[in-house]
Amino acid sequence: MNSESRPYDAKSPRAVEFIHHGEIQDTLEYARTHKDDEALIGSVIDKAAACNGLSHREAALLLECDRPDLLDRIFRLAKALKQRLYGNRIVMFAPLYLSNYCVNGCTYCPYHAKNRSIARKKLSQEEIRREVIALQDMGHKRLALEAGEHPTLNPLEYILESIRTIYGIRHKNGAIRRVNVNIAATTVDNYRRLKEAGIGTYILFQETYHKEHYEHLHPTGPKSNYAWHTEAMDRAMQGGIDDVGMGVLFGLNTYRYDFVGLLMHAEHLEATFGVGPHTISVPRICPADDIDTADFPNSISDDIFARIVAVIRLAVPYTGMIISTRESEAVRRRVLELGISQISGGSRTSVGGYAEEEAVEENSAQFDVSDRRTLDEVVGWLLDLGHIPSFCTACYREGRTGDRFMSLVKRGQIANCCQPNALMTLKEYLMDYASPDTRAKGLRLIRKEIARIPNPKVQAIALRNLQEIAAGKRDFRF
Ligand code: SF4
Repeated sequence: MNSESRPYDAKSPRAVEFIHHGEIQDTLEYARTHKDDEALIGSVIDKAAACNGLSHREAALLLECDRPDLLDRIFRLAKALKQRLYGNRIVMFAPLYLSNYCVNGCTYCPYHAKNRSIARKKLSQEEIRREVIALQDMGHKRLALEAGEHPTLNPLEYILESIRTIYGIRHKNGAIRRVNVNIAATTVDNYRRLKEAGIGTYILFQETYHKEHYEHLHPTGPKSNYAWHTEAMDRAMQGGIDDVGMGVLFGLNTYRYDFVGLLMHAEHLEATFGVGPHTISVPRICPADDIDTADFPNSISDDIFARIVAVIRLAVPYTGMIISTRESEAVRRRVLELGISQISGGSRTSVGGYAEEEAVEENSAQFDVSDRRTLDEVVGWLLDLGHIPSFCTACYREGRTGDRFMSLVKRGQIANCCQPNALMTLKEYLMDYASPDTRAKGLRLIRKEIARIPNPKVQAIALRNLQEIAAGKRDFRF
């Protein structure tokens, strides 16, 4: 049987069966045919309001809807679901680029092996120390490690050594408390070693779920193997990593196809392992060295992007949704109202970019940063918008990962942890790193928000901990 004639099977271990081309086409046809069925769309929105998620078909239908009144309901519900499940905290993180050496030939990424104009660089452990100290001095507690795929220059041993270095750095009151890792698809055994090294989330973007298109965009290197890449999350779960982060690079292929593929992938993980994606990221193709977005006719508008974010929140309500500094301040502000729950701030996408002066920052970046504000400016901005910037890393350190985490979110209980943890970690940030203006705004917000913690016992403990933080103690969590 060739892959085309195999049936769709969400539980299959084979990529072409759980990301089934025929099922995606049927889904898109279904959405096109029913896009004006107001009653059907209304019933799907009602179903989403119960917070139990949507199937990929239902979600595709909502994505296709272009009636302003229904779209408005979708947007308002996306905001409400994020609020119901996670409260108004927004988790902060920063990417840390370790090495841009790469053997792959991805046509949309400036790290591709044939790009001779990019400055190649790999950080030594001493350079990593300098980067991490610079990140700690900004106030970051949570990192996402990034590295190109290179079996001899960036072997797993290098990644593991780097993780040990990062977790070992104590500088003033700073510490990196959670290291997420975004590296190439690897073996079950290597995933096990990453788990043992204490990583938080394993992140791997699919780029596109369209197999033919994927193969065209990845002409050379290990990443050109669609099945190896698409089945990586299964191997990560088999290796004991139960928090995985997914995403596609919107604009590489038609957004509708990749949107459905992304949701089918989430359904596959839930059906097979009982755990869906811990996070979903929504990067879009953007300019970079040697990359011209004009070469990508599928790139998407801000309006479509907003719809995608909102409908993912309705379809996979329990997931953390991440937006990076690829996006401008204006776009980030818009999607913060549509279900985004994590953002990066003060990011540098060049290798060594945090410790180096920006003026001498080398041309080694993976993509151009749109939002170039400092972390303090982003924190102050979030406070102005009424969000609680959170530096919390509690769940993974308390063993609330995988299905344990999912079930707490699905039962609407995680916000009971998020809210006080956000306030306590924000207070640490305000004491140690904030500008006077941000500190004043943050302390005002904490006074207001502490009164909103519903459980009196939790509120009393949080209040005591906030006083201890003011007195110099650190690292409290629920
Ligand atoms: S309590 Fe858990 S889910 Fe909430 S912000 Fe902290 S680590 Fe994330």
